[in-house]
Amino acid sequence: MRHVRSISELGRDRILGLLNLADRMAEINSRPVPKVPALRGRTVVSLFYEDSTRTRLSFETAARRLSADTMNFSVSSSSVNKGESLRDTVETITDMGVDAFVVRHKSAGVPWQIAQWTTAAVINAGDGAHQHPTQALLDAYTITRSRNSQDLAGLRVAIVGDIRHSRVARSNVEAFTALGAEVLLVAPPTLLPPVVSHWPVEVVHDFDSVVDSVDVLYMLRLQAERMNQGLVPSLAEYSTHYGLTPRRVARMSVDAQVMHPGPMNRGVEMVVDPAEIRGSLIHRQVTNGVAVRMAVLFDSLAVEPDHSALREEAR
Ligand code: ASP
Repeated sequence: MRHVRSISELGRDRILGLLNLADRMAEINSRPVPKVPALRGRTVVSLFYEDSTRTRLSFETAARRLSADTMNFSVSSSSVNKGESLRDTVETITDMGVDAFVVRHKSAGVPWQIAQWTTAAVINAGDGAHQHPTQALLDAYTITRSRNSQDLAGLRVAIVGDIRHSRVARSNVEAFTALGAEVLLVAPPTLLPPVVSHWPVEVVHDFDSVVDSVDVLYMLRLQAERMNQGLVPSLAEYSTHYGLTPRRVARMSVDAQVMHPGPMNRGVEMVVDPAEIRGSLIHRQVTNGVAVRMAVLFDSLAVEPDHSALREEAR
Protein backbone atom coordinates (compact mmCIF):
# COMPACT_ATOMS: atom_id res chain seq x y z
CA MET A 1 0.00 0.00 0.00
CA ARG A 2 1.48 3.30 -1.04
CA HIS A 3 0.82 6.01 1.53
CA VAL A 4 1.43 9.68 0.75
CA ARG A 5 2.10 11.27 4.13
CA SER A 6 5.09 13.57 3.74
CA ILE A 7 7.41 14.83 1.02
CA SER A 8 10.47 13.33 2.70
CA GLU A 9 8.84 9.88 2.65
CA LEU A 10 8.28 10.26 -1.09
CA GLY A 11 11.77 11.35 -2.09
CA ARG A 12 12.87 12.91 -5.38
CA ASP A 13 12.25 9.91 -7.66
CA ARG A 14 8.71 9.32 -6.53
CA ILE A 15 8.00 13.07 -6.70
CA LEU A 16 9.20 13.15 -10.31
CA GLY A 17 7.18 10.01 -11.09
CA LEU A 18 4.02 11.58 -9.68
CA LEU A 19 4.57 14.81 -11.63
CA ASN A 20 4.92 12.79 -14.85
CA LEU A 21 1.79 10.85 -14.00
CA ALA A 22 0.00 14.18 -13.41
CA ASP A 23 0.74 15.05 -17.07
CA ARG A 24 -1.33 12.01 -18.05
CA MET A 25 -4.11 13.14 -15.73
CA ALA A 26 -4.04 16.71 -17.09
CA GLU A 27 -4.54 15.22 -20.57
CA ILE A 28 -7.61 13.31 -19.28
CA ASN A 29 -8.93 16.52 -17.73
CA SER A 30 -8.69 18.25 -21.11
CA ARG A 31 -10.97 15.67 -22.81
CA PRO A 32 -14.64 16.48 -23.50
CA VAL A 33 -15.53 13.73 -20.98
CA PRO A 34 -12.82 13.99 -18.31
CA LYS A 35 -13.37 10.58 -16.75
CA VAL A 36 -11.64 7.18 -16.98
CA PRO A 37 -12.44 3.82 -15.33
CA ALA A 38 -9.00 3.45 -13.76
CA LEU A 39 -10.17 3.18 -10.14
CA ARG A 40 -13.58 1.57 -10.69
CA GLY A 41 -14.52 -0.49 -7.65
CA ARG A 42 -12.17 1.42 -5.34
CA THR A 43 -13.52 3.53 -2.48
CA VAL A 44 -11.92 6.71 -1.18
CA VAL A 45 -13.10 8.27 2.07
CA SER A 46 -12.43 11.90 3.02
CA LEU A 47 -11.86 12.22 6.75
CA PHE A 48 -11.59 15.93 7.44
CA TYR A 49 -11.34 17.08 11.05
CA GLU A 50 -10.35 20.60 9.94
CA ASP A 51 -11.99 23.03 7.55
CA SER A 52 -11.20 22.86 3.88
CA THR A 53 -12.64 24.09 0.60
CA ARG A 54 -10.21 23.40 -2.22
CA THR A 55 -8.35 20.36 -0.89
CA ARG A 56 -11.51 18.42 -0.08
CA LEU A 57 -13.27 19.30 -3.35
CA SER A 58 -10.10 18.70 -5.33
CA PHE A 59 -9.64 15.17 -3.93
CA GLU A 60 -13.31 14.35 -4.47
CA THR A 61 -13.19 15.56 -8.06
CA ALA A 62 -9.97 13.61 -8.61
CA ALA A 63 -11.47 10.39 -7.22
CA ARG A 64 -14.62 10.73 -9.35
CA ARG A 65 -12.64 11.42 -12.53
CA LEU A 66 -10.92 8.08 -11.97
CA SER A 67 -14.34 6.41 -11.33
CA ALA A 68 -13.63 5.64 -7.67
CA ASP A 69 -16.54 5.70 -5.22
CA THR A 70 -16.29 8.43 -2.61
CA MET A 71 -17.43 8.58 0.99
CA ASN A 72 -17.55 11.81 2.86
CA PHE A 73 -17.09 11.99 6.60
CA SER A 74 -18.28 15.16 8.20
CA VAL A 75 -17.10 15.63 11.78
CA SER A 76 -19.95 17.97 12.65
CA SER A 77 -22.63 15.32 11.94
CA SER A 78 -20.74 12.18 13.00
CA SER A 79 -20.39 10.07 16.14
CA VAL A 80 -17.27 12.10 16.98
CA ASN A 81 -19.82 14.36 18.65
CA LYS A 82 -20.86 11.39 20.82
CA GLY A 83 -17.24 10.97 21.91
CA GLU A 84 -16.10 8.32 19.41
CA SER A 85 -12.32 8.18 19.22
CA LEU A 86 -10.27 8.64 16.06
CA ARG A 87 -9.16 5.02 16.26
CA ASP A 88 -12.71 3.64 16.53
CA THR A 89 -13.81 5.89 13.67
CA VAL A 90 -10.97 4.68 11.45
CA GLU A 91 -11.55 1.02 12.31
CA THR A 92 -15.29 1.32 11.69
CA ILE A 93 -14.78 2.90 8.27
CA THR A 94 -12.10 0.32 7.42
CA ASP A 95 -14.59 -2.47 8.23
CA MET A 96 -16.90 -1.07 5.53
CA GLY A 97 -14.20 -1.80 2.96
CA VAL A 98 -12.42 1.38 1.91
CA ASP A 99 -9.20 1.57 -0.07
CA ALA A 100 -7.91 5.01 0.88
CA PHE A 101 -8.30 7.56 3.63
CA VAL A 102 -7.72 11.18 2.67
CA VAL A 103 -7.17 12.75 6.06
CA ARG A 104 -6.88 16.25 7.47
CA HIS A 105 -6.41 16.80 11.18
CA LYS A 106 -5.21 19.61 13.44
CA SER A 107 -2.59 17.36 15.09
CA ALA A 108 0.74 16.60 13.46
CA GLY A 109 1.39 12.89 12.92
CA VAL A 110 -2.23 11.70 12.68
CA PRO A 111 -1.74 10.11 9.19
CA TRP A 112 0.99 7.88 10.65
CA GLN A 113 -1.27 6.84 13.53
CA ILE A 114 -4.13 6.07 11.15
CA ALA A 115 -1.85 3.89 9.03
CA GLN A 116 -1.41 1.64 12.06
CA TRP A 117 -5.15 1.12 12.42
CA THR A 118 -6.15 0.44 8.81
CA THR A 119 -5.12 -1.63 5.83
CA ALA A 120 -6.14 1.20 3.48
CA ALA A 121 -3.72 3.71 1.91
CA VAL A 122 -3.40 6.94 3.88
CA ILE A 123 -3.09 10.25 2.07
CA ASN A 124 -2.25 13.30 4.15
CA ALA A 125 -4.37 16.32 3.27
CA GLY A 126 -2.78 18.41 6.03
CA ASP A 127 -1.72 17.49 9.59
CA GLY A 128 -1.42 20.50 11.87
CA ALA A 129 1.56 22.67 10.99
CA HIS A 130 3.49 19.61 9.81
CA GLN A 131 2.90 18.46 6.21
CA HIS A 132 0.61 18.99 3.22
CA PRO A 133 2.34 16.87 0.59
CA THR A 134 -0.23 17.12 -2.21
CA GLN A 135 -0.06 20.93 -1.99
CA ALA A 136 3.70 20.75 -2.48
CA LEU A 137 3.32 18.34 -5.39
CA LEU A 138 0.79 20.57 -7.12
CA ASP A 139 2.99 23.60 -6.52
CA ALA A 140 6.05 21.87 -7.94
CA TYR A 141 3.95 20.68 -10.88
CA THR A 142 2.63 24.20 -11.50
CA ILE A 143 6.06 25.83 -11.51
CA THR A 144 7.78 23.17 -13.62
CA ARG A 145 5.04 22.92 -16.24
CA SER A 146 4.66 26.71 -16.52
CA ARG A 147 8.36 26.76 -17.44
CA ASN A 148 8.32 23.62 -19.60
CA SER A 149 10.76 21.91 -17.33
CA GLN A 150 10.95 18.73 -15.28
CA ASP A 151 12.57 20.11 -12.14
CA LEU A 152 13.34 23.42 -10.40
CA ALA A 153 17.09 23.56 -10.91
CA GLY A 154 18.40 27.12 -11.10
CA LEU A 155 15.25 28.75 -9.70
CA ARG A 156 15.22 31.08 -6.72
CA VAL A 157 11.96 30.69 -4.78
CA ALA A 158 10.96 32.90 -1.83
CA ILE A 159 8.34 31.59 0.60
CA VAL A 160 6.95 34.65 2.35
CA GLY A 161 5.00 35.10 5.59
CA ASP A 162 3.73 32.86 8.34
CA ILE A 163 6.23 30.00 7.99
CA ARG A 164 5.91 29.04 11.65
CA HIS A 165 2.34 27.74 11.37
CA SER A 166 2.53 26.57 7.78
CA ARG A 167 2.47 22.92 6.74
CA VAL A 168 2.60 24.22 3.18
CA ALA A 169 5.97 25.87 3.87
CA ARG A 170 7.39 22.71 5.47
CA SER A 171 6.28 20.53 2.56
CA ASN A 172 7.33 23.04 -0.09
CA VAL A 173 10.81 23.55 1.34
CA GLU A 174 11.36 19.80 1.08
CA ALA A 175 9.83 19.43 -2.38
CA PHE A 176 11.42 22.53 -3.93
CA THR A 177 14.90 21.75 -2.64
CA ALA A 178 14.59 18.08 -3.67
CA LEU A 179 13.90 19.36 -7.19
CA GLY A 180 16.91 21.67 -7.17
CA ALA A 181 15.53 25.11 -6.26
CA GLU A 182 17.26 27.63 -4.04
CA VAL A 183 14.72 28.47 -1.31
CA LEU A 184 14.52 31.66 0.75
CA LEU A 185 12.25 32.05 3.76
CA VAL A 186 11.08 35.64 4.18
CA ALA A 187 9.44 36.34 7.53
CA PRO A 188 9.74 38.25 10.80
CA PRO A 189 11.61 36.25 13.48
CA THR A 190 8.33 35.66 15.36
CA LEU A 191 6.80 33.86 12.37
CA LEU A 192 9.69 31.47 11.83
CA PRO A 193 9.87 28.06 13.53
CA PRO A 194 12.04 28.16 16.69
CA VAL A 195 14.87 26.29 14.91
CA VAL A 196 15.44 26.59 11.16
CA SER A 197 19.21 26.24 11.15
CA HIS A 198 19.02 22.67 9.79
CA TRP A 199 16.60 23.60 6.98
CA PRO A 200 18.27 23.86 3.56
CA VAL A 201 17.21 27.49 3.14
CA GLU A 202 18.38 31.06 3.47
CA VAL A 203 16.44 33.17 5.98
CA VAL A 204 15.69 36.81 5.16
CA HIS A 205 13.78 39.34 7.26
CA ASP A 206 13.70 42.22 4.78
CA PHE A 207 11.23 41.38 1.99
CA ASP A 208 12.25 44.44 -0.04
CA SER A 209 15.85 43.24 -0.21
CA VAL A 210 14.88 40.16 -2.27
CA VAL A 211 11.63 41.01 -4.07
CA ASP A 212 13.42 41.96 -7.30
CA SER A 213 15.72 38.92 -7.44
CA VAL A 214 13.42 35.91 -7.15
CA ASP A 215 11.81 33.77 -9.85
CA VAL A 216 8.85 32.73 -7.71
CA LEU A 217 7.20 34.53 -4.79
CA TYR A 218 5.17 32.07 -2.76
CA MET A 219 2.88 34.02 -0.43
CA LEU A 220 1.48 32.33 2.69
CA ARG A 221 -1.68 33.04 4.60
CA LEU A 222 -1.28 34.55 8.05
CA GLN A 223 -2.82 31.67 10.06
CA ALA A 224 -4.86 33.41 12.74
CA GLU A 225 -6.47 30.11 13.87
CA ARG A 226 -3.08 28.67 14.88
CA MET A 227 -1.87 31.77 16.75
CA ASN A 228 -2.27 31.85 20.48
CA GLN A 229 -0.09 34.86 21.14
CA GLY A 230 0.49 38.23 19.51
CA LEU A 231 3.21 37.32 17.06
CA VAL A 232 2.65 40.35 14.86
CA PRO A 233 2.27 43.88 16.24
CA SER A 234 -0.78 44.56 14.03
CA LEU A 235 -2.17 43.36 10.71
CA ALA A 236 -1.42 46.76 9.19
CA GLU A 237 2.22 46.57 10.22
CA TYR A 238 2.50 42.99 8.96
CA SER A 239 1.11 44.04 5.57
CA THR A 240 3.48 46.95 5.33
CA HIS A 241 6.52 44.73 5.84
CA TYR A 242 5.44 41.37 4.40
CA GLY A 243 2.37 41.98 2.23
CA LEU A 244 2.49 41.81 -1.54
CA THR A 245 1.72 45.40 -2.45
CA PRO A 246 1.47 46.98 -5.94
CA ARG A 247 4.82 48.66 -5.24
CA ARG A 248 6.49 45.31 -4.60
CA VAL A 249 4.85 43.71 -7.64
CA ALA A 250 6.25 46.56 -9.75
CA ARG A 251 9.76 45.69 -8.53
CA MET A 252 9.51 41.99 -9.44
CA SER A 253 11.42 40.84 -12.49
CA VAL A 254 9.34 40.59 -15.66
CA ASP A 255 9.02 36.83 -15.74
CA ALA A 256 8.69 36.30 -11.97
CA GLN A 257 5.66 34.34 -10.80
CA VAL A 258 3.37 34.66 -7.78
CA MET A 259 1.72 31.76 -5.95
CA HIS A 260 -0.56 31.34 -2.93
CA PRO A 261 -2.04 28.08 -1.59
CA GLY A 262 -5.35 29.75 -0.63
CA PRO A 263 -7.41 30.79 1.15
CA MET A 264 -6.05 34.33 0.70
CA ASN A 265 -6.30 37.09 3.27
CA ARG A 266 -6.93 40.00 0.95
CA GLY A 267 -5.54 43.22 2.39
CA VAL A 268 -3.16 41.32 4.70
CA GLU A 269 -0.58 39.23 2.79
CA MET A 270 -2.24 39.95 -0.58
CA VAL A 271 -2.61 43.69 -0.73
CA VAL A 272 -2.62 43.70 -4.52
CA ASP A 273 -5.48 42.09 -6.45
CA PRO A 274 -3.98 38.84 -7.81
CA ALA A 275 -5.95 39.33 -11.04
CA GLU A 276 -3.63 42.26 -11.71
CA ILE A 277 -0.41 40.28 -11.38
CA ARG A 278 0.82 39.19 -14.80
CA GLY A 279 2.80 36.26 -13.42
CA SER A 280 0.09 34.93 -11.09
CA LEU A 281 -0.14 31.13 -11.05
CA ILE A 282 -2.85 31.05 -8.40
CA HIS A 283 -5.65 29.79 -10.68
CA ARG A 284 -3.34 27.24 -12.28
CA GLN A 285 -2.46 25.88 -8.83
CA VAL A 286 -6.13 25.05 -8.25
CA THR A 287 -6.62 23.50 -11.70
CA ASN A 288 -3.43 21.46 -11.45
CA GLY A 289 -4.42 20.31 -7.96
CA VAL A 290 -7.03 17.99 -9.46
CA ALA A 291 -4.55 16.37 -11.89
CA VAL A 292 -1.93 15.96 -9.19
CA ARG A 293 -4.42 14.39 -6.77
CA MET A 294 -5.59 12.04 -9.52
CA ALA A 295 -1.95 10.99 -9.93
CA VAL A 296 -1.59 10.43 -6.18
CA LEU A 297 -4.80 8.36 -5.93
CA PHE A 298 -3.94 6.32 -9.03
CA ASP A 299 -0.41 5.68 -7.83
CA SER A 300 -1.65 4.57 -4.40
CA LEU A 301 -4.65 2.53 -5.51
CA ALA A 302 -4.45 1.21 -9.05
CA VAL A 303 -4.58 -2.58 -9.18
CA GLU A 304 -2.77 -2.71 -12.51
CA PRO A 305 -0.68 0.42 -12.62
CA ASP A 306 0.08 -0.22 -16.32
CA HIS A 307 -1.73 2.98 -17.37
CA SER A 308 -3.99 1.20 -19.89
CA ALA A 309 -7.06 2.24 -17.90
CA LEU A 310 -6.05 5.86 -18.42
CA ARG A 311 -6.62 5.57 -22.16
CA GLU A 312 -10.21 4.32 -21.97
CA GLU A 313 -13.20 6.55 -21.38
CA ALA A 314 -15.53 5.79 -18.52
CA ARG A 315 -19.04 4.87 -19.58
N1 ASP B 1 -4.93 25.59 2.48
C1 ASP B 1 -3.60 25.46 3.04
C2 ASP B 1 -3.60 24.50 4.21
O1 ASP B 1 -4.59 23.86 4.47
C3 ASP B 1 -2.99 26.76 3.37
C4 ASP B 1 -3.70 27.58 4.40
O2 ASP B 1 -4.70 27.17 4.99
O3 ASP B 1 -3.21 28.69 4.62
O4 ASP B 1 -2.61 24.38 4.87
